[in-house]
Amino acid sequence: MARAINSIMAERIPAALQQMLSERLSYYEDIGICLFYRDRSAGSLPQTPAPAPAPLPVHREEILLPKTTPSAAVQRTALAAASLPRKIDVLPVVSGPSLFESVDKIADDSLLKIRTDLGDCTRCKLHKGRHTIVFGDGNPKAELVFVGEGPGHDEDVQGLPFVGRAGKLLTQMIEAMDLQRKDVYICNVVKCRPPENRTPEKDEVTTCSPFLLRQIDVIAPKVIVCLGSVAAQTLLETTRGISQFRGQWLEFRGRKLLATYHPAYLLRNPNAKGEVWKDLQKVMAVLGLQVKKSKSS
Ligand code: URA
Repeated sequence: MARAINSIMAERIPAALQQMLSERLSYYEDIGICLFYRDRSAGSLPQTPAPAPAPLPVHREEILLPKTTPSAAVQRTALAAASLPRKIDVLPVVSGPSLFESVDKIADDSLLKIRTDLGDCTRCKLHKGRHTIVFGDGNPKAELVFVGEGPGHDEDVQGLPFVGRAGKLLTQMIEAMDLQRKDVYICNVVKCRPPENRTPEKDEVTTCSPFLLRQIDVIAPKVIVCLGSVAAQTLLETTRGISQFRGQWLEFRGRKLLATYHPAYLLRNPNAKGEVWKDLQKVMAVLGLQVKKSKSS
């Protein structure tokens, strides 16, 4: 397909742009996407059936560890994930140009510059109630970035993301993946705590998300995991409910993105832990991580 499009491009598109588009098309072919289009209309979201219900996880208190080592299953998932089966057809429902896709990478950007630019931010009303800006934490070269919604009380006090109850569960999830918090990068859509932990409002998300975008561009992870619907809907620019695309490989600015349930949701709905664990195993497969054998198996 890239060849056919290349010859059409040759007639009408300037050489530099041609080169860029050809590389992009080759990339899509490399990841197994040969025919695609982007339909921004509201009816364009997944036609794919919902994944089969996951087996229930091991229910030790707030622990998500697997019982056995399904290495063959993980390898199968790795092959499936490597070809990125679904992508553009399950993406956004907004109309017009994508806010994020059209933003260029900033040359020589760094986490330090982003933090400096953020400064003692008063760009949106959230600054009025916050104690601390929660910028993000972890490995600046992480292959895996987790994106949450916004700081809660504990995060606002400590200035670090995911350090409260939901954070402890996230830490367990990370460790179940045979990683440590210092291996990954964790950040949020909004950097200041919304009052009473309410959902961030649209203007707050719009104001703050360019900083998140820059963080992701600078870290350049292999995989982005969106925790919960605010993160997923923000990066995918969709209003669709997370359950419609949870656990599916999607794309964000050329990177693999997978949305899963927020740890706070899991605290309220522990039965969903199995589904999240399945999602995380998909991520592990892409990152080449093996599921650890538990002591009981
Ligand atoms: N919930 C989030 O979404 N982010 C945090 O940092 C903590 C809780």
